[in-house]
Amino acid sequence: MVLWPMFVGRAAEWRKRRVVRMVYFDHAATTPMRQTAIETWMKYAHELNPGGQYASGRRANAVLAQAREQIAELLGADPVEVVFTGSGTEADNIGVRGLFHATCAEQGQRVVASTIEHSAVLEAVKYLEQHDGAQAVWVPVDRGGHVCEDALVDALSKPAAVATVMLANNETGAIQPIDRVVALAAEHGTPVHVDAVQAVGKLPVDFHELGVTTLAASAHKFGGPRGSGLLLARRSPAPQPVIVGGGQERGLRSGTVDVAAAAATAAALAEAVEQMEQEHEHVEALRKRLIAGLREQVPDVIFTASEPVLPGHVHVMFEGAHADALLMLLDSQGLEASAGSTCSSGVTRMSHVLEAMGIAQPVGLGALRLTLGRTNSVHDVDALVRAIADVVRRARVAGGV
Ligand code: PLP
Repeated sequence: MVLWPMFVGRAAEWRKRRVVRMVYFDHAATTPMRQTAIETWMKYAHELNPGGQYASGRRANAVLAQAREQIAELLGADPVEVVFTGSGTEADNIGVRGLFHATCAEQGQRVVASTIEHSAVLEAVKYLEQHDGAQAVWVPVDRGGHVCEDALVDALSKPAAVATVMLANNETGAIQPIDRVVALAAEHGTPVHVDAVQAVGKLPVDFHELGVTTLAASAHKFGGPRGSGLLLARRSPAPQPVIVGGGQERGLRSGTVDVAAAAATAAALAEAVEQMEQEHEHVEALRKRLIAGLREQVPDVIFTASEPVLPGHVHVMFEGAHADALLMLLDSQGLEASAGSTCSSGVTRMSHVLEAMGIAQPVGLGALRLTLGRTNSVHDVDALVRAIADVVRRARVAGGV
């Protein structure tokens, strides 16, 4: 019998009865804005149109130019290669669909993509298949969540209009071999798009050193504002725009640029890069403590991904416990996490990422993604470790798998 829906809606009610301190374990979804980003955003919130041919326009444009230069410097790109977008999703769409249209006449209709891409890339590839005659070549991953070397070699042994592999997976945190993708793609002139949304601000990223053609990032993942994305795009081959309009941002992303968001994005990235080493150490130490605690409290816990993974990612599975029940029970105690499974029409399915890793349904439906960030403390981890055994026991009793 499926009992887990009884938890739905109860978490808020339970929380109301007690004063519960909220502890956030969903930094991969979004992370709190850095104070420096908030202050920078407020400082420039009054700026007007950076395209204006008058004093206020020139002032706004100067702020935008400075943000662009700072981001270029931090990510190993030229300022002209920095394109401000409205989200990581938008940057991914311009990268994947734009590169396809720019090169398919020469490179053919093939599009190489890993099976674990975020929906921003996955749906862009499917869109190209449905509307533009693209032939998708899906590169599988191994049980640990990393793209398979043989399949990668095979897929990239012929020219493609674009190859797209993410730098680190949003669910499992598994870091992918982008240098290998670039080396193989280069043999046949295949341009490479990399979705670095989860990696920028957490791992050192140098656009030119990576050798990719386009790269997507998103400010809200590294402490910048939500609704602010970045596309790094080489001059050649340059992607074609996916929306048309006033021709801002090299014509790649028409629309008046949000100067305050761009400046706040640069400020957040500067702090993330500057403090990367200490934040990495802090989060890694918490991660080790969390892993040890989970192992001790629930000995049959399954750790989903193999190394290398992002420093803040702990993806686990509890066979026989439904993710919805796990999340509701944790939420009722002020512990905020996510599942990584997709919910459509109220029915939770195992995520495409776990499916691609060959994980069986009864295991994958009990997935829990805990992602740590700079604002977490040892007390947060200990609170989760104290709660987990009872949460898993109750979720298993509720069943539903
Ligand atoms: N790509 C990855 C790997 C992500 O994790 C996300 C967001 O979760 C995106 C793309 C989309 O970014 P945004 O939320 O800025 O559209």
